[in-house]
Amino acid sequence: MVRRRSPDRVAVLSLHTSPLAQPGTGDAGGMNVYVLATAKAMAARGVEVEIFTRATSSRDEPVVEAADGVLVRTIAAGPFEGLDKNDLPTQLCAFAAGVLREEARHDPGYYDMIHSHYWLSGQVGWLARDRWRVPLVHTAHTLAAVKNRSVAAGDRPEPAAREIGERQVVAEADRLTANTADEKQALVDAYGASEDTVDIVAPGADLTMFSPGDRGSARASLGLAQDETVVTFVGRIQPLKAPDVLVAAAAVLAGRDPGRPLRVLVVGGPSGTGLERPDSLIDLTRSLGIAHRVTFLPPQPPERLADVYRASDLVAVPSYSESFGLVAIEAQACGVPVVAADVGGLGTAVRSGETGVLVDGHDPERWADALDSVLRDDDLRGRMASNASRHARNFSWDHTADGLLETYERAAWRFGRTGGVDRPTGEFSPRRPRGLWRMRRT
Ligand code: UDP
Repeated sequence: MVRRRSPDRVAVLSLHTSPLAQPGTGDAGGMNVYVLATAKAMAARGVEVEIFTRATSSRDEPVVEAADGVLVRTIAAGPFEGLDKNDLPTQLCAFAAGVLREEARHDPGYYDMIHSHYWLSGQVGWLARDRWRVPLVHTAHTLAAVKNRSVAAGDRPEPAAREIGERQVVAEADRLTANTADEKQALVDAYGASEDTVDIVAPGADLTMFSPGDRGSARASLGLAQDETVVTFVGRIQPLKAPDVLVAAAAVLAGRDPGRPLRVLVVGGPSGTGLERPDSLIDLTRSLGIAHRVTFLPPQPPERLADVYRASDLVAVPSYSESFGLVAIEAQACGVPVVAADVGGLGTAVRSGETGVLVDGHDPERWADALDSVLRDDDLRGRMASNASRHARNFSWDHTADGLLETYERAAWRFGRTGGVDRPTGEFSPRRPRGLWRMRRT
């Protein structure tokens, strides 16, 4: 039995997107799933979690109990609707004020750890950390410097201001978590993080929800034909995620063998620069002459998504950049091989040749070859399917929560030693009294 010091109550900051939003469209994606799933897993270990997010509708309740021990607090900061993600930095003060006011309603030490997600929250976490004198852990989820290395055609690079903001948060946080070793290296090389302050904590999947199941009934529930070969894309529809690469590769396959019963299933809604031309993917299917082979579904809740994966012969993740790729793990957890771009965390999420195939680049011909290599070989696909579900078992949210609790412990240790005085921005008042954390058996 490990004796571990755990915080009593963590303030989780998720400014730009709510864990209560339906993922798969707009700004809601893997980070929302991560924030809620880890909060629930931590609450199950006796650590209370309060998640702060920005109100995006006048109908948002100020506080919602998302699960036992997990509250979501919604802070009014700027207009509810229509505020572009690029304009969110203008609302950092308003959001920070809301978070600080909430804390001020409680006794000192009410929150004994701050965990910020994405750089905008990191900026607020930095301020709250200095005010409350408790450690700050930060998870970037994506990094501008990494995203800007491979920008999709027609997409815009991340602004320089974001990189500046990220660099500040990296310098200020007591500890950082990275999804993969590559992301840790990027934090060190591109952002100047010191190696010994970054923990690698892999994200997970809900392995109860996402598990192998009957393909026939999954297809029936979605209204899909039983005799077609189904290749699926799940995610936010935007150039970064490259659903167009899958559509173009499917057109190549259809051109090579017009009689082949191929269906492409695209699940998700427009996001990012994809919002500027929400019909562009539909237009592409028309111009390539495969509109009749492509089915679009709006964003699906997890239980329906499990059927989407189970109904598929394989799932494609052609992204230009991906800090991890939860979809790849979820699909494999359902026993479905994944063909993914060899970028970012997908190299960790997919074992090329064993649980799927990693593809170099985004050339549709090459993608068609990779898809075909799995689709044409039933034995290989069967082997990959069982390897995939076994591989996915390494990624559970419980495992992620254990990793985060270790990070919290290290953050508290570092914070206790430095009291924040080694920060480039200087001044930090007497450190928080020791002993506010209780010993916990896990
Ligand atoms: N998702 C969902 N419904 C959808 C599409 C996506 O719930 O219709 C979820 C999916 O289960 C996954 C997340 O959105 O957990 C996407 O995470 P990923 O890491 O693949 O991509 P991100 O959105 O973070 O770029």
